[in-house]
Amino acid sequence: MILFKKTSDLNRFLLQKKQERLAIGFVPTMGALHEGHISLIKASKEVTGFTVCSIFVNPTQFNDPKDFEKYPSTIEKDILFLERNNTDVLFLPSVDEVYPDGSKNLEHYDLGYLETILEGKYRPGHFQGVCQVMQRLLKIVRPHHLFMGQKDYQQCMVVKKLIELTKLETAFHTCPTTRESDGLAMSSRNMRLNEAERKNAVAIYDALTYLKKNISIGNLDNLLEDAKKILQKNNFRLDYIEIADAKTLEIKHSYNGKEQLVALAAAFQDQVRLIDNMMME
Ligand code: AMP
Repeated sequence: MILFKKTSDLNRFLLQKKQERLAIGFVPTMGALHEGHISLIKASKEVTGFTVCSIFVNPTQFNDPKDFEKYPSTIEKDILFLERNNTDVLFLPSVDEVYPDGSKNLEHYDLGYLETILEGKYRPGHFQGVCQVMQRLLKIVRPHHLFMGQKDYQQCMVVKKLIELTKLETAFHTCPTTRESDGLAMSSRNMRLNEAERKNAVAIYDALTYLKKNISIGNLDNLLEDAKKILQKNNFRLDYIEIADAKTLEIKHSYNGKEQLVALAAAFQDQVRLIDNMMME
């Protein structure tokens, strides 16, 4: 694996790879890597001839400065993990490298409805930050294929929209959520949970599974109330648990038995905010 810290060096190197007609796959991350991230590397290796991973904790997407400060970093372990999984390139830029003109007066993207609901509503500015960093990283790497996790369902929709808005020629791949054996979605944030919080945390998966098992035609409000109770009984402080149209993310209060729906949740175990989602099929 080759590690690049400078954009210009990575650009030069990738240009050469593109001349060799290799399809470039890209997996952007914020580090503290786990098997979920590695599943994206593996998906890229199946589809492309050359896989670039980036590790960059993007300050502009953190609406809560404490969350940014406490974001876990395990860089040496990450490098070994990526190397063991045959990643071709790791891009590890500094903040100045990604934002050479500083992080003021950044561009604004018209994300419409997508930014007004769920993560957009509870983390104001978050998706603008996601777009600001993704636009830069995509311009630097110019991948043929981009791999992101369904775990961040709304983020996938936002980045697909960004690709449309910026007319980039990158194929977007949504990869399934990798889970721990009890069902908890793998997340870098899980390492901040203490033993009791880790035990409670699985309730987010249980609540989503409950929705999937019990959804039926008609009003969804009572079902959602039951799912909220599962979370609250396990010490979760709720931002939201909702059922939405899987394609548009329009929030649904009733089900007609035909549309494809997804349930999405965000909730805190003490200071640690977890998100997860599940297709209702
Ligand atoms: P992050 O480092 O949390 O920003 O995540 C980097 C990428 O990995 C994003 O596309 C995430 O959606 C994806 N990801 C995070 N956790 C998982 C997981 N448990 N399974 C699959 N993909 C994941």
